[in-house]
Amino acid sequence: MRGGINWLIASEQDRERMLEMDARLRDVRMMAFGVFAIGFVASGPWIGWEPLPLLLIAAVFFAAADKVAARSARPEYWIFGAWVGAQLVIASAVLLTAAPESLVAVFLAVPVVTLSTRFSGRGIVAGVAITVALLCAVLFGTDAGAVIDYPPLLLTPLALILGIAILSTALMHSELQYRSESVVDPLTRLLNRKALENRVAELSQQALTADAPVGLVYCDIDHFKEVNDTVGHACGDEILVRVAELIRDQLRAFELAYRTGGEEFLIVLPGVGLGDTADLAERLRAAVARHPFPSGVMMTMSCGAAASGPDSRFDFSALWAGADEALYRAKREGRNRVSLAPGSDRRPTIAALPA
Ligand code: GH3
Ligand code: MG
Ligand code: MG
Repeated sequence: MRGGINWLIASEQDRERMLEMDARLRDVRMMAFGVFAIGFVASGPWIGWEPLPLLLIAAVFFAAADKVAARSARPEYWIFGAWVGAQLVIASAVLLTAAPESLVAVFLAVPVVTLSTRFSGRGIVAGVAITVALLCAVLFGTDAGAVIDYPPLLLTPLALILGIAILSTALMHSELQYRSESVVDPLTRLLNRKALENRVAELSQQALTADAPVGLVYCDIDHFKEVNDTVGHACGDEILVRVAELIRDQLRAFELAYRTGGEEFLIVLPGVGLGDTADLAERLRAAVARHPFPSGVMMTMSCGAAASGPDSRFDFSALWAGADEALYRAKREGRNRVSLAPGSDRRPTIAALPA
């Protein structure tokens, strides 16, 4: 179980995003280290060889933090720790290469690029503040007079660090906005199929480590085509929005609903067994059946419920197929009801209540 939210991350999703980003950046980071190593080897005759072992230390820092973070309740602290460690290593390299004139000072800007891919606003500010403090400490600590006589020694790396922080944060922000828009259905504001694909990949990963069941409820509004035909498409849209709200109202924070088709919704319930999954499906069905929709329309909805056992291997496609089969049976047996997936040990059908 992961720890709570703190100043480095704003939400549980941010933590997942940080870990995902870190995994994606791992190979690229090694390539960047390789390029730096070549640069330092080529510059060795002029700036000395000291930066090379320091580069190795920074690489080891990141590799160690990756390993510990994967198993930690608060991976963000380890990742931020490794990040600060890398800045300390670069600051040491500046010290060892003729500070305050050392050109290595500009390298302090490189890790700043990665701040916004991992941390919240306060984490970014803290990272930039640490970087600027290190830059000032190294430059003024070695020869304050030289910096005062020739301020570009400080101003050039400072402007680079701040400019990169601003630009990378803005780019990351627009990337996140694009990503969240691409996974949300614009009509109902529920998640779409693309988001479901991402979630399934995560669930499969989690199911490997945690022996918890996963519940699925597959819902389809009954006779929806008739509504479009009789009261119009706009009213049909409004009904979809209301049904989405009714579904959202019944869910807890980590339970997610997806609009998988026109009037079809899939609800994913991590850690929920078949009994509670069927109970939720019944609550959803009843909520729709008693809700007065616009234009005085009354609607019903059929649901299929399925859950993976705590000990069975998690197979999302098979689970969804089971819920789909149950939904099909609910339709066949008269609609406005909940059916359980074939092979479930609970009573196969929950009798429909009057709409
Ligand atoms: P059943 O009880 O068997 O599910 O019958 P149904 O009429 O609900 O099922 P069918 O699949 O035949 O019709 C679904 C309809 O949903 C057809 C389509 O016009 C409508 N639909 C799909 N997407 C939207 C949408 O975004 N807005 C509106 N208003 N209607 C939609
Ligand atoms: Mg349908
Ligand atoms: Mg339908």
